[in-house]
Amino acid sequence: MAEPTAPLVLVVEDEPAQAELLRYNLEREGFRVALAGDGEEGLMLAGETTPDLVLLDWMLPLVSGIEVCRRLRAREATRAVPVIMLTARGEEGDRVRGLDTGADDYVVKPYSVNELMARVRARLRPTRGASVGQLLRHGDIELNGETHKVTRAGTPVRLGPVEYRLLVTFMERPGRVWSREQLLDRVWGRDINVETRTVDVHIGRLRKALAREHARDPIRTVRGSGYALDLDG
Ligand code: CA
Repeated sequence: MAEPTAPLVLVVEDEPAQAELLRYNLEREGFRVALAGDGEEGLMLAGETTPDLVLLDWMLPLVSGIEVCRRLRAREATRAVPVIMLTARGEEGDRVRGLDTGADDYVVKPYSVNELMARVRARLRPTRGASVGQLLRHGDIELNGETHKVTRAGTPVRLGPVEYRLLVTFMERPGRVWSREQLLDRVWGRDINVETRTVDVHIGRLRKALAREHARDPIRTVRGSGYALDLDG
């Protein structure tokens, strides 16, 4: 069984055998899995669970994969979630259309499960920073780079993978002001095409997760520049 803090992958696939194959392999990788059998259910589950990644079949009943992708991108909560499209069609036009709609990656059926798992891991990979295996502290926030556990004033903080990587970046250099572009490079990786606005969405989630009654907001917004972790100033 995957840990409750493991990344959640939403699989939207109408062929039960394919869905089960994906579930089996994703769980073996240590991910949590949610399955949806059509586009409508996929959108509903995406709203309820805010997955860390979506594997999305192109040909789906009720709502097509491409429409699901479009709607995920239009929603605040799922705008930044990586989407890998799965399709039996391999025409270049479809590929471009899929990427235009906001899919991050595109895999043609029949795909190699190993290759697909490698792509999923690449999208969910945590930052390999100086903090790996280290205990980082700033004010009343503690981050264990080995167990990925985060606490504030001794109580656990639950973070998604993106928020965790943001916090790692901040904790490595408290007080440093990071621009949105720098955070995109550090947290999402240079090769991933994400809007800078996405950073604001995840900063918002991180703030919410770190919020405690009567405690200061540890993240400072620097007008026109970006963000800093700053409990001292
Ligand atoms: Ca299908």
